[in-house]
Amino acid sequence: MNNKPVAVITGASRGIGRAITISLASEGFDIAAIARSVDSEGMEILAKEVAEKKSEFFPIGLDIACTACQAEVVTNILDRYGRIDLLVNNAGVAPLKRNDLLEMTEESYERVMNINLKGPVFFAQEIAKEMIWLKQQIPDYKPIIVFISSISSTRSSINRAEYCISKAGLSMASAVFADRLAGDDIRVYEVRPGIVKTDMTAKVKDTYDKLIAGGIVPQKRWGFPEDVGKAVASLARGDWDFSTGSIFDISGGLNIPRL
Ligand code: NAP
Repeated sequence: MNNKPVAVITGASRGIGRAITISLASEGFDIAAIARSVDSEGMEILAKEVAEKKSEFFPIGLDIACTACQAEVVTNILDRYGRIDLLVNNAGVAPLKRNDLLEMTEESYERVMNINLKGPVFFAQEIAKEMIWLKQQIPDYKPIIVFISSISSTRSSINRAEYCISKAGLSMASAVFADRLAGDDIRVYEVRPGIVKTDMTAKVKDTYDKLIAGGIVPQKRWGFPEDVGKAVASLARGDWDFSTGSIFDISGGLNIPRL
């Protein structure tokens, strides 16, 4: 059994997941880092950064949409570490092409829903069952599940509807897991980023630069992956022990309904 707590982060290779992983290594977690492939520059760099924090690094290749592949991954993590203290369901994608809602294809809808919603829901289910069992085995074990949703959970974008629908679903997933697992002493939180500078937003950087300059974000700047990393670290430390089911907006005030 690992002495240190263990965090599983999906979509760890880049962007927000990478920042979350480094924050959690700084908080003393050993890491199981999931991305589609372990053979990427992102995963290699992350391995070094986690090692610098004196944490263990276990890279895992998994397409999160492959629900049939998830049980084996969880078994491998438990074989290596003997415990999972924190799951951060972060992996997610935008539609490959921004299309008007009336032109949205079934193929794009299924791709986005499978990666952003179905995959994380069943991964959380798989790990939650292990957490319930581990509760009986490890003294002072305080498991946590975090869902990284989006401002798009509640805001309409008519040219990427499938993304908004998937994130609205993920928001409810966080609520129902929080409700179901509260009695098992497992905390569940939703973290809702706004506009964050990553590969995901690189294609639309100019559009967002203009919107931010025009004041759409009250705090008048891009979000950075580290903003989200710090918030997840705070949840992981146990600072929000009596707040299961809560939503944490990391969006510089973009969440404020304004006239
Ligand atoms: P990103 O830079 O595009 O990184 C996406 C990450 O997800 C990568 O690590 C990628 O792994 C992984 N991933 C993609 N598809 C996967 C799959 N099928 N199975 C496993 N892993 C997969 O994205 P990001 O901006 O950091 O976004 C991270 C999360 O935050 C997403 O859920 C996103 O919806 C959410 N979010 C982002 C923003 C924003 O403005 N950026 C705002 C709100 C919410 P590979 O390297 O292997 O491809």
